[in-house]
Amino acid sequence: MEELLRGGLTALDLPQAGVPALLRYAELLVEKNKVMNLTAITEPADIAALHFLDSAVLLSLADFSGRTVADVGTGAGFPGLVLRILEPSIHLTLLDSLNKRIDFLKEVCADLGLEDVDCVHGRAEEFAAGHREGFDIVTSRAVASLPLLAELCLPLVRQGGWFLPMKSVDSDQELRAASHALEVLGGVVEKTVDYVIPGTDVRHRLIFIKKVRETPQKYPRAFAKIKKNPL
Ligand code: SAM
Repeated sequence: MEELLRGGLTALDLPQAGVPALLRYAELLVEKNKVMNLTAITEPADIAALHFLDSAVLLSLADFSGRTVADVGTGAGFPGLVLRILEPSIHLTLLDSLNKRIDFLKEVCADLGLEDVDCVHGRAEEFAAGHREGFDIVTSRAVASLPLLAELCLPLVRQGGWFLPMKSVDSDQELRAASHALEVLGGVVEKTVDYVIPGTDVRHRLIFIKKVRETPQKYPRAFAKIKKNPL
C-alpha cells in the first residue's frame, strides 16, 4: 500500500509527508470495518487508490490551502479527512448523519493528533441553519444526485466559494438535471474535470460549482421535501 500511495502522490505532484498518517488511517479503517459498516472497499491496494488517491486528486485540481472546508456525507472520511492529512492548513468540518461514523472519525482524529478537525453528527440540511455561507469549499462524494445534493451543500458555501461534488464521468445527464437547482441556489458550473486515479484506469469527475449569489433563506428545505420535490 505504501508504494502505491507514494507513487500516486508523486504522480499528482503532492507531498509525501502525510503517508504515515494515511497508513495508520487505513489500519484503523480495516479494523473498525470488522465490527461496523464503514466501507465495502477493504483490500489495501483498493483503499490506497479508490479512497485515498481519489480524494487526494482534489488537492491537485483546486487550491485548498488555508481554506475552511466542509465534507458533507463524509462517511468514513472521504474525501475530507484525506485532504486534511495531506494539506494540514485546511480548517476541516466532517459532517455525517450517522453518528457511528462520526464516532469512528473522532477516534481516527484523536489517534492521528488532528485535534482541530470538527467531526459533526448531523444532517446537512439542518446544519445549514447555524452555518450558512460558512465555508470556502464544500466537498461531497457518493451522497445524493446533484439536484438534491446542491440543496444540501450550496447553502453552506460562502459567496465566491466553491461546491466541489465528486461524480462519475457519466454525470452529464445529472448535471443537466441540476441546472435549475443551481440557478435557484446561486451556483454556476465553471468547469468539470475528468481525471484518472493514479495507478488505475478508473476515471472520475470533479465538478466546479462557484457560489455567485446568496442562497435564498427558504433553502435548504426539510429532506422529505427536497426528495419529494427536487428543485
Ligand atoms: N463520502 C463517503 C465516501 O465517498 O466514501 C461516504 C459516502 S456514503 C455512500 C453516504 C454518506 O452520506 C453516509 O455516511 C450517510 O450517512 C451520509 N448522508 C446521507 N445524507 C446525508 C445528509 N443529508 N446529511 C449528512 N450526511 C448524509
